[in-house]
Amino acid sequence: MNAPAFPTGTILGYPRIGRRRELKHAVEAFWAGRIDASELEARAAGLRAATRDRLASLGLGRDDSSIPESFSFYDQVLDTAIAVGAVPDRFRRLANERGTIDLAGYFTIARGEGDDAPLEMTKWFDTNYHYLVPEIGPDTAFALHAERIVAGFAEAKAAGFLTRPVLVGPVTFLLLAKAADGAPEGFRPLDRLVDLVPVYAELLAELCRAGVEWVQLDEPGLVSESIDEPRGRVIEALGAAYDALGTAARRPLLFVAAPYAGLGDALPALAAAPVEAIGLDLVRGRVPEQLDPATAAGLAAKTLVAGVIDGRNVWRGDLDRAFDRVEALRTLSGSVSVSTSTSLLHVPHDVADETALDAGLAGWLAFADQKVAQVATLERGLVAGRAAIQAELDAASAALAERAAAPGVRVPAVRDRLAALDDAAFSRAASDARAAAQEDLDLPALPTTTIGSFPQTTEIRRARARLVRGELTDAAYRELMREEIARVISLQEDLGLDVLVHGEPERNDMVQYFAELLEGFAVTEHGWVQSYGSRCTRPSILWGDVARPAPMTVEWSQYAQSLSDRPVKGMLTGPVTILAWSFVRDDQPLGDTARQVALALRDEIADLERAGIRIIQVDEPALRELLPLKRADQHAYLEWSVGSFRLATGGAAPATQVHTHLCYSEFGVVIDAIRELDADVTSIEAARSRMEVVDDLAASGFDHGVGPGVYDIHSPRVPGVDEVRSLLERAVGGVPAGRLWVNPDCGLKTRGYDETVASLANIVEAARAVRERVAVGANAG
Ligand code: GLN
Ligand code: ZN
Repeated sequence: MNAPAFPTGTILGYPRIGRRRELKHAVEAFWAGRIDASELEARAAGLRAATRDRLASLGLGRDDSSIPESFSFYDQVLDTAIAVGAVPDRFRRLANERGTIDLAGYFTIARGEGDDAPLEMTKWFDTNYHYLVPEIGPDTAFALHAERIVAGFAEAKAAGFLTRPVLVGPVTFLLLAKAADGAPEGFRPLDRLVDLVPVYAELLAELCRAGVEWVQLDEPGLVSESIDEPRGRVIEALGAAYDALGTAARRPLLFVAAPYAGLGDALPALAAAPVEAIGLDLVRGRVPEQLDPATAAGLAAKTLVAGVIDGRNVWRGDLDRAFDRVEALRTLSGSVSVSTSTSLLHVPHDVADETALDAGLAGWLAFADQKVAQVATLERGLVAGRAAIQAELDAASAALAERAAAPGVRVPAVRDRLAALDDAAFSRAASDARAAAQEDLDLPALPTTTIGSFPQTTEIRRARARLVRGELTDAAYRELMREEIARVISLQEDLGLDVLVHGEPERNDMVQYFAELLEGFAVTEHGWVQSYGSRCTRPSILWGDVARPAPMTVEWSQYAQSLSDRPVKGMLTGPVTILAWSFVRDDQPLGDTARQVALALRDEIADLERAGIRIIQVDEPALRELLPLKRADQHAYLEWSVGSFRLATGGAAPATQVHTHLCYSEFGVVIDAIRELDADVTSIEAARSRMEVVDDLAASGFDHGVGPGVYDIHSPRVPGVDEVRSLLERAVGGVPAGRLWVNPDCGLKTRGYDETVASLANIVEAARAVRERVAVGANAG
């Protein structure tokens, strides 16, 4: 019997949250007890059915495995963990006598319960999607629980579709896991590969029995050089895992996808593996021109799935060039297919839903549905020849040309200003001169402050919704926000904080707020993408040259400052974070775009200074996230990202104290970059890691102000005075008291007022105590 061929056109995955965030609403209704599990299951099944129908209507085949089964209730890594039985001990109680975990249990692992912390969450490769980190120890008892995967396939089959199940592959699963608590020193999850692979083999056998023809195993772990595991070991693991799976007696055909970058030195090992198809990200990666004979022979024997439609951005792009890339692969293998470079999880559903977008701009865009149609077009070209799709290729090229020439895409005034910049624009005065100029801020040792936002109450959200619906005038909305600011200022004075914030009530989101006020950005109505679990963000589209038509934050900051004698921080989002959390134009280097954003922020800083604001914080929580997966690209990235921050802040007077805030504390390669930001004060997350970061920073020669967080704002828990005190005492060991700041880990917008007030009161009290202790110590010495 002839094995079924891999479909000539496919996608690696599709958004699962729903065009109107139906999954979010259903899941949250289930959490709130408003619907039961069977209602949730029914709604999810409805969504899956709609997705299959939609994909078929856009041109993917119904019966040839071209529709991926990529649904998840919360996260695909958690799904895989459950399927292979990798459940941490603290959640074992959730399993029934057969070891199965129901939907409620699944969500408990994702969200925690009581003292049982959820799985940790972290960013998925260089995207803004967060996955749940599996915990693997020497005793993790892997066991197959394939019920959901098999049922998903059967459900599609009953509806007349032959779909392709998608799983995280075994190597990536272990690379993304962390060692379980209590694992011996030096234990690595990858050590358990030999025990995990047989469970995957069993799973493949079950899928085979169910009638699955092709299965997709996602192995993006192979492309990343940022994973903390020696490269040689990763490649060895790849060989071992797929030798075993490929030679399993009963299995579907194997499609191994390697999205997010090129395979690099993992390509020969994958080419040699006994799998039938491999997916290459040809947007971020290239196939080397020179292949060794063994690799060439290996590739020639497989279906090469050309990931040429960009799954990461929203641009219609250069279809003609994409088709060239597909055709180029034909010199390597007689069997080539077309696909997206990554899952379409990272883009919104459908441009057609955006009725308020400028028509010109809409014609340059492709969201998930448009990208599926692009795949179908290229597939037709692959089958019937380029001439068959020439009209579509030409239309895409025409849209590109129109985009390049459209007003606003290249604004001479913006470009001339950037071209005229000299080195001095990127530097401030020496830090000791700045410190001297800032003395009159008259701050105590260990000054207390917060990261910017105060709780976004229901009233604030309701006011914004009413403004959007036109039920509230702009003036009335602004008045409500001013009242909120006044409340937050007086609360901070009562609490005894030293450096105040206005609380950011007027901001829907720390990026969108600026995108709405800058030229060169567009915002969407329904352009939601999943960030984690049921959480979605609606990234803005950065399509043109960026300019600031008017001050963006000055009025709010100035008003807040007018209410207090203590300094109130001006609060801006940095250029890297604005880029990271938007869909950014792909027609010029990111660094060029970042510098345009930086200039707009630089002007904002100048206006804040003129308005009497003495301390300005420029948040860069995404600095780490955009770090390229390939080492060779990291240096250039750090150059432009740090450069754009310095350009934004470089015009600040020596007397202006510049702060920055970074959310995470795993610095690794970015630690030098953080020093080079040259902010006077840097606040970072540290509460959960018990201040470890302080030593790392000290070791790297960091000698500016630093505020390691003493309050974990991810949890409603109120830290006690003694706890904060001991964290601070630990910090003074690594950072001289003269440079230490006292603040929470991050903004307070997701917290409630009760716990916020209690926590801040404890923080202020602890800071006072340590301040006194240190002063006494200094006098005695
Ligand atoms: N200033 C922002 C806030 O407090 C920072 C948020 C962030 O770092 N993600 O909300
Ligand atoms: Zn933060």
